[in-house]
Amino acid sequence: MSTRGRRPVRRSPLPGYKACRNCKAVVPEETEKCPVCGSTDFSKDWMGLIIVLKPEESCIASKLGIKKEGMYAIDVL
Ligand SMILES: [Zn+2]
Repeated sequence: MSTRGRRPVRRSPLPGYKACRNCKAVVPEETEKCPVCGSTDFSKDWMGLIIVLKPEESCIASKLGIKKEGMYAIDVL
């Protein structure tokens, strides 16, 4: 049985990735420990993706409290 059509399922922008609940870093699903903050608390429900290359020059990064370059979720559920 195929379920075509619209279902209100929230999908991560990047399949196979999860986001750290502590610092919002986006990492591959197989990552056990967050490379940014060392947390092991991840969520597969996250939205929005920003890539920070130069945290010290990015106003988005400073708003989100990001101090290390990498991929980050805007919102982790
Ligand atoms: Zn983290």
